[in-house]
Amino acid sequence: MSENKDFLRAIVEEDLNSKKYEKIVTRFPPEPNGFPHIGHAKSIFINFGIARDYNGHCNLRMDDTNPTTEDTKYVEALKDAVTWLGYDWGENVQFTSNYFPKIYEYAIELIKMGKAYVDSLDEEQMREYRGTVTEAGKRSEFASRSIEENLDLFERMKNGEFKDGEHVLRAKIDMSAANMKLRDPLLYRIRHAHHFRTNDDWCIYPMYDFAHCLSDYIEGVTHSICTLEFENNRDIYNWVLDTLQLTPPRPYQHEFARLGINYTVMSKRKLLELVNKGLVSGWDDPRMPTIAGYKRRGYTPESILTFCEQIGIAKANSMVDVSQLEFCIRDDLNTKSPRVMCVLDPIKVVIENFEGVEEIDASYYPHDVPKEGSRKIPFSKEVYIEREDFSENPPKGYNRLTIDQPVRLRHAYIITCKEVIKDDNGNIVEIRAEYNPASKSGNDKSGIKVKSAIQWVSVNEAKKIEVRLYDRLFKDEAPETLDDLNPDSLKIIKDALIEPAVITDKVDVRFQFERQGYFYADPIDYSDDKPVFNKIVGLKDSWAKKSKPKTEVKTQNKPKIETKKEVVHGEAEPMTESQKALFDKYTNDLKLNNEVSNILARDEVLSNFYEDSLKIFNSPVTIANIVANDVAKELKDKTIDELKFNCEMISELVKMIDEETISSKIAKQVFEEMTKTGEKPSKIVEDKGLVQVSDPAVILPIIENVISQNPENVEKYKAGNNKLFGFFVGQVLKATGGKANPKVVNELIIKSLK
Ligand code: ATP
Ligand code: MG
Repeated sequence: MSENKDFLRAIVEEDLNSKKYEKIVTRFPPEPNGFPHIGHAKSIFINFGIARDYNGHCNLRMDDTNPTTEDTKYVEALKDAVTWLGYDWGENVQFTSNYFPKIYEYAIELIKMGKAYVDSLDEEQMREYRGTVTEAGKRSEFASRSIEENLDLFERMKNGEFKDGEHVLRAKIDMSAANMKLRDPLLYRIRHAHHFRTNDDWCIYPMYDFAHCLSDYIEGVTHSICTLEFENNRDIYNWVLDTLQLTPPRPYQHEFARLGINYTVMSKRKLLELVNKGLVSGWDDPRMPTIAGYKRRGYTPESILTFCEQIGIAKANSMVDVSQLEFCIRDDLNTKSPRVMCVLDPIKVVIENFEGVEEIDASYYPHDVPKEGSRKIPFSKEVYIEREDFSENPPKGYNRLTIDQPVRLRHAYIITCKEVIKDDNGNIVEIRAEYNPASKSGNDKSGIKVKSAIQWVSVNEAKKIEVRLYDRLFKDEAPETLDDLNPDSLKIIKDALIEPAVITDKVDVRFQFERQGYFYADPIDYSDDKPVFNKIVGLKDSWAKKSKPKTEVKTQNKPKIETKKEVVHGEAEPMTESQKALFDKYTNDLKLNNEVSNILARDEVLSNFYEDSLKIFNSPVTIANIVANDVAKELKDKTIDELKFNCEMISELVKMIDEETISSKIAKQVFEEMTKTGEKPSKIVEDKGLVQVSDPAVILPIIENVISQNPENVEKYKAGNNKLFGFFVGQVLKATGGKANPKVVNELIIKSLK
C-alpha cells in the first residue's frame, strides 16, 4: 500500500501482520429503505476498497430488520449502485433476515445465562427509568423475572400472543453505565408487520444493536466499519459477542466520519420526502444525490470514486464542498468527451456570399487532449448561432459578434455582420452577414483578427433535441427544509439544435457541448424521435462567486453551515452563547472559514489549544487549519494529556510553513512523525532533510531536465497551450520529492519556457 494509508488500512495491516485474521472480510450493510446516496458511495468505496486492496472479501448485506420501511426495489437499487461503481459481492447478496432463526437462538442463550430479560414497562416508563447523562437509571422490576418465565414469555412473543409494544427483550447490562447505550439496551421488539422476505414468519424483530454484531460474526466479518454516530454502540457490540463467548475470531467495529456535502440533503428520509411529494421525478432524478441520480445525469463511476478517494477517510466529521464533486466529473470528462456544437437559444444568420454546402472536417478533441477522432460538419448559407453571441449594444469587453466586430464560427470561417433584421416589436429575428473565404479555420490567410470563436449549426442539417439544464437542487448551502429548494434547478429547452453527427445510435456517451458544458443522452427518455440530453456539469464552477456573499450574510445571524456538521442522529446541536461568541470572533476577527470556526468553537479543548498556540506564534489561519483538522483527528482517540506534542510544537511547525522553510505538504509528513515520536518539528525537518528548496541554482537544472525530457509538451506550450504549465510544475515538484518551493518553481518555469 502507499505510504499515505488511512487509519483503517493501518488497522487492517496490523491485524494481518499479527495474524489476528487470515483473510479480511468487510461488509457494506445498508438498510433497503431507500436508494443509496453519495454518502453510501463513500462507505462502498471504503468497505469494498479495503477488501480489494488486501485480497479479502466484502459482503453486500441488506440490514432488513425493520419490516415496515423496506422493499425489494431498494435491494435492486443497492445492487445496481455497487455494480456500477465496479465492485463485486460474490455469489449472493446477504440478508440479515436470513439469520433471524440463528439470532433468535442467541437471544435464548442470553436468557439462559441470565443476561437478558423480558421487560413489560411501557415506552414512557422505560424512558424515565433510563436516567440521564448525570443520573444513573434504575432497573425495571420485571428484570427479576426468572429464567423460566423469561423463556416462556419470549417464546410467546415470538408466537404472536402479544400486541406491538406489550413486551420487549432487553440485555441485562448496567443501568448506571456512563454510556447510556449500555443501560439495558433493547434486543427484540414485537412488530406485527409483513416483511418483504420473511413474510409473516416473524412478529418479533431483532434491534440493530443485537442483529448487526451477530450478522457480522455469522458472516465471518473481521472489520465492521461504520460511521461515527455508532461510536457509543460499540460497547454493546462487544458486550453481545463477548457475553455469548463465541468461538474466535470475532469482528471488531471501527468508525469513520460520515460524508456531508453542502447544498445537499443526504438522509434517506428527506430524499424519500422529495420523491413522495413529487418535488423530483423519482429516486433517479438527475438532481438527486443518489447513485442512480448521478448515473442518469451522466456522472461516470470513475469520477465518483476519485471524489471518494480525494475526500479521504477521517475520524472528524466535516462538510465537503459540492464543487469538489463537480470538479471530479469535469476533470474526468475533460479528457474523455468529444467536443461538439449545440445551440440552445438560436438566432438565424444568413451568409449572403455563401452558396451550397461545405463539409468541414473538424476534430472532436482539442490538441491538449490525447484522443483522436473527427467528424464532418455541414456549413451552409444559413446557420444558427446563440442569441447571446450577438450584441447590438455590446458591453465593454464583449468579444463576440457585434455590428462592427467580426467573429469566427468555430471550425469554419470568420463572419462580419451586415444588417440586423427585426420584427415589429423590435426583436432581432435574423442577422445578415458575410463570410471571408480566406479565413477558414486551420488555414486562415485573411489577416482578420477576431476575439473569439462561437458555436453554430447549419439550419437545414441541424437536429432538434431536448436539453435539460440541471443545476443544484438546493439553493441553500446547508438546506434544512424542502423550502430551500433551488427553483432553477431544472430548465428544459425543447428546441435546442445540434450538429447532425451527434445524433447516432450510440448509447452511454458523453459530449462536451462547446462553451455550454458536458451532456449525456438521458438513458431513459432518449429516443430517435426525441433525443434528450442532460446537462452533467458546466465547464466552470458557476456557483463560486454566487455563493460567497450569501454565506457571509447567513453566518451573521445564524451560523447555518455548521449545523449539519456535528450531526448526531440527524439533529443539530445549537451552539451555546459562549460557543457562538467564539464562532463570531473566529469568523469575523480572525477570518477563519465557517467550517474551521465551527469545529473550534464547539470544542473547548480544541479552542484552548488553538488560542494557546496562537499566543506563541500569531498565525491565525494556518494554526486553525492544523488544529481543526490534524490535532482534532488525534484527539478522537486520545485525551490531550496523551498527545505526544504540544502547542509549542504546533506553533513551531506553523512558523516553518509561514516562513517557507517547509512546504505545507511536507508539514503533513512532519506532523505525522511528531504525533508518533514527540520530536520537535525543527529536529524532524533537520534529521530527515526536509527543508524546502528555494535556491534557483538547485531547481534550475531540474527544470532543464524536465524540459529536455518533454520536447512535445514544450512545443505545445509554446504554441499557446497554457494548460501544460501545471504539468511542468508537477514534474519538477515530483523530481524534488515535494521539497521545491512551488512559488520559486513557478517563476523559474515561466522564465525557462519563454
Ligand atoms: P441515512 O441516514 O442517509 O438514511 P443510513 O445510515 O440510515 O443513511 P444505512 O442504509 O443504514 O443508511 O447505511 C449503510 C451504510 O452506509 C452504513 O454503514 C452507514 O454507516 C453508511 N453511510 C450512510 N450514510 C453515510 C454517509 N453520509 N457517509 C458515509 N457513510 C454513510
Ligand atoms: Mg440507517
